[in-house]
Amino acid sequence: MAVSDWTTIIGLEVHAEMLTASKMFSNCPVVDSVTAAPNSAVDPLSLGMPGTLPVINMKAMEYGMMVALALNCEIPPFNQFARKNYFYPDLPKGYQISQYDHPLAIKGYIDIELEDGSTKRINVTRAHMEEDTGKLTHAGLSSLVDYNRAGVPLLEIVSEPEIRSSYEAEAYARKLRSILQFLGVNHGDMSKGVLRFEANVSVMHKDDTEFRQRTEIKNLNSIRIMVRAIDVEVQRQIKLWESGEAVKPATLGWDESAANITIQRYKERPDEYRYFPEPDLPILEVSREWVAEVRAKLPELPDAKKQRFVEQLGLPEYDAGVLVAEKAIADYFETILASAENIQAKTVSNWVTGDLFGLLNAEKVEREAIGETNISAENFAKMIVLVDKGTVNAGTVRKKILPIMWETGKDAAQIVETEGLAQISDANLIGDTVQAAIDENPDIVQRYLDGNEKVINAIFGKAMGKLRGKGDPAVVRQALQEKLNALK
Ligand code: ADP
Ligand code: MG
Repeated sequence: MAVSDWTTIIGLEVHAEMLTASKMFSNCPVVDSVTAAPNSAVDPLSLGMPGTLPVINMKAMEYGMMVALALNCEIPPFNQFARKNYFYPDLPKGYQISQYDHPLAIKGYIDIELEDGSTKRINVTRAHMEEDTGKLTHAGLSSLVDYNRAGVPLLEIVSEPEIRSSYEAEAYARKLRSILQFLGVNHGDMSKGVLRFEANVSVMHKDDTEFRQRTEIKNLNSIRIMVRAIDVEVQRQIKLWESGEAVKPATLGWDESAANITIQRYKERPDEYRYFPEPDLPILEVSREWVAEVRAKLPELPDAKKQRFVEQLGLPEYDAGVLVAEKAIADYFETILASAENIQAKTVSNWVTGDLFGLLNAEKVEREAIGETNISAENFAKMIVLVDKGTVNAGTVRKKILPIMWETGKDAAQIVETEGLAQISDANLIGDTVQAAIDENPDIVQRYLDGNEKVINAIFGKAMGKLRGKGDPAVVRQALQEKLNALK
């Protein structure tokens, strides 16, 4: 047996909070889990007090349906909530209200792009609504519990085991995340736990006719970590099978400091949740009118936006894909286009995916947080227009203007003025300067005339130096070429 004889099999289970104003079954507010004081957004229902009765949050159902429709799901005619019984301190009632036999949605799919540019369809088995649990924090021998999250509407989206590599898992996760962001139901910030991925992983030998035992990796705090965890787990499983041992069913975690899989518990038998219909909630009928209403309200989704960027704006597929991957970036790009007249979409795309992304990387700011930086899309648009009109050159923008905009948020035109960065395009001045550069560097000019064309860049550099880097590069280059041609 060889490593190449094995195929990776992955099914993803995704938990996405639906960020409504109130919780799934009461009017208790939903708050930011990181910034809000622990247990500041709780009510008798979130705390599982006896005698409380749940009421379905219809807005949460609508959000869930929006996701389901965006994932091309079928919406069955009725929903039934069910109690999923288990005992854990983050679940004060002793059961979670979920859905079992009659979920909100079934049989959808997500199309993902593969490395070779082709598209692959990953089927979605089901999506059901449930309530989130509280959050446990382990501190030494104690555990602290925060019930702010208990009862927050949660949509669980389960994929078929059709994902074949960590690359495909990443593409699926990113596409799903961007759909949630476009719908405005979840901001996708995994560090806040509003979106959580669990990867079910197994491997299959080329002679196998059936799936082998799978494991489940939980607590993956970012898509990058999910990819690494899957890669490590696949290798672990192949090694076990190859050495004649068996993969045991287990729940795994990821230890970031060791960059390794941890085994949280082996489960010999499947979990026994004793699901039964929730007696305190009615069956929820989903009329076709309601589905049509929600469908009509769906905004433009990432795939449609990408296609529009390609067809109407003439952007390359690659650029369009990168721009729509984050809703915040797509919005930023469109705002620039709307505020800068007569600018090529490709020019804007180059600035955004090149210089702006470079800046975000260097400053370690996530792309989705672009709206929180000092550089507004309108100001960025002004800067692009200044370059396009020849007022400043691109090099000056990169080195001087962008850093100031980043730090201060000052207006691009104002920075150009106060810093004296306006480009020199005056043909006479440039002509004289280029002539001076030629006169002062006879050796280099001679090498050029002897056939070493590349040294033209050295003379160009001398001329630009004399202009303190502010010469319009195109004008300088043209003047230089003309003057050198005359010497030939
Ligand atoms: P459970 O109820 O135990 O969670 P499910 O049938 O709901 O089981 O499956 C959970 C997830 O596991 C799904 O995403 C599914 O695609 C995935 N899955 C099932 N079998 C395999 C397998 N052999 N390898 C990898 N993933 C699998
Ligand atoms: Mg499961």
